[in-house]
Amino acid sequence: MLSFEPSPELDALITRVKAFMSEVVFPLEREIAQRPFLACEPELAAVRERVKAEGLWAPQVPKEYGGLGLDFRQHATLSEELGRSPLGHYLFGCQAPDAGNMEILHLFGTAAQKQEWLVPLARGEFRSCFSMTEPDLAGSNPTWLATTARREGDEYVIDGRKWFTTAADGARVAIVMAVTNPDAAHYARASMILVPTSTPGFRQVRKISVMGEEGSGWASHSEIAYEGCRVPVSNRLGDEGAGFMIAQERLGPGRIHHCMRWIGICERSFDLMCDRVAKRELSPGRPLGTRQMVQDWVAESRAEIDAARLLVQHAAWKIDRVGSHEARTEVSCIKFYVAGVLQRVLDRALQAHGALGMTDDTPIASFFRHERAARIYDGPDEVHKASVARRILRGYGLEVGSVGKG
Ligand SMILES: Cc1cc2nc3c(=O)[nH]c(=O)nc-3n(C[C@H](O)[C@H](O)[C@H](O)COP(=O)(O)OP(=O)(O)OC[C@H]3O[C@@H](n4cnc5c(N)ncnc54)[C@H](O)[C@@H]3O)c2cc1C
Repeated sequence: MLSFEPSPELDALITRVKAFMSEVVFPLEREIAQRPFLACEPELAAVRERVKAEGLWAPQVPKEYGGLGLDFRQHATLSEELGRSPLGHYLFGCQAPDAGNMEILHLFGTAAQKQEWLVPLARGEFRSCFSMTEPDLAGSNPTWLATTARREGDEYVIDGRKWFTTAADGARVAIVMAVTNPDAAHYARASMILVPTSTPGFRQVRKISVMGEEGSGWASHSEIAYEGCRVPVSNRLGDEGAGFMIAQERLGPGRIHHCMRWIGICERSFDLMCDRVAKRELSPGRPLGTRQMVQDWVAESRAEIDAARLLVQHAAWKIDRVGSHEARTEVSCIKFYVAGVLQRVLDRALQAHGALGMTDDTPIASFFRHERAARIYDGPDEVHKASVARRILRGYGLEVGSVGKG
């Protein structure tokens, strides 16, 4: 049965996380936003230690690796609370891209890979990144890559260029998608390979300025050149040619978590908007919230956020019942629908704050800058809409091919 009632244990956990967010995390936001993130990482490490001491660290990581071992629906619920702050997931050890990397290391890593990479990643001892998208080929077609990993004896030699490798700045290891089997079918050409960033030939070309902000450390996106990077064949994750399949595995439940994080951002922005319109007076005794146009923002936002959450919970429930593959229509629907709700709610919250909305005195402007990308990463809206429509229309006898074929 589809139930929205969290268990008493999850409820208690959420209460504790909420308290930590209000008492410790929200007050940190403004100061951290004004300094380079990389410079703040040592200071944030102390807060992460507090999270560990409180027994709240790495909610999605299995207990054997030091996490709370929540299942993915429980973690999705928690993700909404953490999403209320840009720092939430980072401080609790479940930030992208590390969370997804840990997941695939757990599912596909060898015992040695788990020992070398998963154990310290789960403890938050260093960071990782995921290097798939290339500047010269459409990332919307993930089976089309120019980066190659040529086999020479017991080594792969990797050559290519990637960009938007999130959090590469200061990361210890990259998981790279590279073509190992150029003559195989389009979905079986690439493999995932662990490349320590200290490997000769790994070169961070630049941090890419995004919406006027270059960022640093975890909060940045880099262009990376792989120039004759040599790593042992034993650094391959999973089978040769299984890279695309593993990427799909990484993205399915990952999209549920992104969506719940976005709902957290919506709720925080909604809260700030309501507080502002209840207090900001247009003239004595007449706050903004007395205007019907503003009431429309409040009502539309409430309905859209609640609809988005229900849709995500339903998709999560379906994944639990029939698996990610069978639930791909639902997962694609939430990816574009919730990203759209996020843009609209953020826009209304920013508008309601007037000039203050454009400043970094509230987190809204930062959310606005960074989360425009929600409609692009993990599959742009158009790709998800096309794949939903293709599957529906197939039921009506219309076969439409996808761009990835051939
Ligand atoms: C903030 C951010 C973080 C990212 N982090 C990572 C990361 O850590 N690692 C990584 O490897 N990549 C990362 N990416 C890259 C991301 O995965 C790609 O940007 C995404 O896959 C889209 O690829 P593209 O940018 O090449 O756009 P393109 O493929 O060139 O597409 C451009 C636009 O065309 C439209 N379009 C695409 N396909 C279709 C279609 N079939 N029908 C109609 N319209 C279509 C869409 O509107 C799309 O936005 C990140 C991107 C951003 C913005």
